Amino acid sequence: MVSRVIPVDPFDLVIFGGTGDLAQRKILPGLFRRFCAGQMPHEAKIIGAARSDIDADGYRDLIRAAIAKFGGEQACGDAQLDAFLARLNYVTIDAKGEKGWADLQKLMAGKGRVEAYYFSVAPSLFGDLAERLQKWGMADSQARIVVEKPFGRDLETARTLNNTLAAFFEERQIYRIDHYLGKETVQNLMAVRFGNMLFEPLWNSQYVDHIQITVAETVGVGGRGEYYDKSGAMRDMVQNHLMQLLCLIAMEPPARFDPDAVRDEKLKVIRALDPVENHHIARGQYQAEPCNEAENPGYRTAVGDPRSRTESFIAMKIHISNWRWAGTPFYIRTGKRMSSRASEITVVFKDTPHSIFGEEAGRHRNVLSIRLQPNEGITLGVTIKEPGPGGMRLIDVPLDMTFADALGSEADDHVDAYERLIMDVIRGNQTLFMRGDEVEAAWTWTDPIIKGWEARHDVPKPYDSGSDGPTDSSEMMRRDGRSWRKGSNEDV
Ligand code: NAD
Repeated sequence: MVSRVIPVDPFDLVIFGGTGDLAQRKILPGLFRRFCAGQMPHEAKIIGAARSDIDADGYRDLIRAAIAKFGGEQACGDAQLDAFLARLNYVTIDAKGEKGWADLQKLMAGKGRVEAYYFSVAPSLFGDLAERLQKWGMADSQARIVVEKPFGRDLETARTLNNTLAAFFEERQIYRIDHYLGKETVQNLMAVRFGNMLFEPLWNSQYVDHIQITVAETVGVGGRGEYYDKSGAMRDMVQNHLMQLLCLIAMEPPARFDPDAVRDEKLKVIRALDPVENHHIARGQYQAEPCNEAENPGYRTAVGDPRSRTESFIAMKIHISNWRWAGTPFYIRTGKRMSSRASEITVVFKDTPHSIFGEEAGRHRNVLSIRLQPNEGITLGVTIKEPGPGGMRLIDVPLDMTFADALGSEADDHVDAYERLIMDVIRGNQTLFMRGDEVEAAWTWTDPIIKGWEARHDVPKPYDSGSDGPTDSSEMMRRDGRSWRKGSNEDV
């Protein structure tokens, strides 16, 4: 199979924060891979804009080194790299002052083509950037802005941010990134649900016992301790990434795969979420790795606060009050320093209404697992007869579609989430970006839960590094007669 690459229109992309970590690790290596793939037209221009006092050549050197480090295996040779770097320019700019804006304006003047401004800076600078783009005549009706997470830390701050951006740009010009939506498997989730007749009739509380969403990391907070301790797993992961996954699993079929049709349906899911009772939540903080405390300290040491009450793990049982899902719980969990790195959605179907094979055949359930990482793919567990003589014994076997096996080299060409999302910005397609009302609805649901912890001074339970979180999490499942899936690679 040969993948089709459709070049985008010529564009000017300004990356505010173009010298920062995200720009170096994700944005520019991603753009280089799109250049190698032939998707970026030769007239495309990329302008780094940041505080560092370097010139365009200095910027090219910085990005050459970043691509060598983070560009991935698909990098396509020195000549291509030189050609890509020749498209880069740089301005030293102050988001809060006047320095550099006249230079940027000159670079952007009067080209009449797609103009995109990526705000890869702290959210506290979003308003300053928007205001100065307007002041310097760059916020015209064709301009697009891309804003990074976190989008607020509660409903009030998110609303303020939305209002600030709305003062300068229309909603159709604002692209709020949630890079989970750019992942290949996440989009495949929609293809599987809405492109096949097989699943949709069963996709409801009549046939689905429960759904699990797990996003587990083996790493700790690393160098992000200070930032992380102000947010925690709920703000950093649940309010955005896990919420988006839940929406895509639970939403009604949109009439069309277009931005507002998809986002309207996601919004309805968020608005139908029940408040979560405290005994349906497990919060935890990882402990130091025994015998390796210096390298892998516990959470409180890592963030430098021996009394921190921020969670590095959370598991919750969520109910969606609508006709499709009433009675089917969604269990979600995410955490750091867990036993394995895995992002997976598991749909556990109900038992057959009656077993014609008798009690001894045991209980067998169909389980659909959608793996986001590692080994992106989809597995459906089906029940068959165990081969050989000796009566009717049943076993579960996986129908496995690991993308790398099924699609060969095409799967190896998987586009990183950031590459896809930036190209979508250039194409003007907002389907995989969060709308302002969606973000506010997500905070409306999250806020009372966080405020409850704060009011009660809740302390997360300790859990061992390399475990599956605090015992409260497995206990929550056990009370419901269920258990967390071990992961489709190990257990179908
Ligand atoms: P960073 O601290 O590494 O880089 C910040 C950039 O902003 C630098 O280029 C700096 O020069 C520029 N900057 C700072 N103050 C400025 C000013 N007054 N005027 C102009 N430029 C200024 O930050 P980062 O890790 O690259 O993160 C950038 C944004 O992306 C943040 O909103 C962050 O929350 C978000 N984000 C980062 C990651 C990541 O992996 N790094 C992941 C998700 C989201």
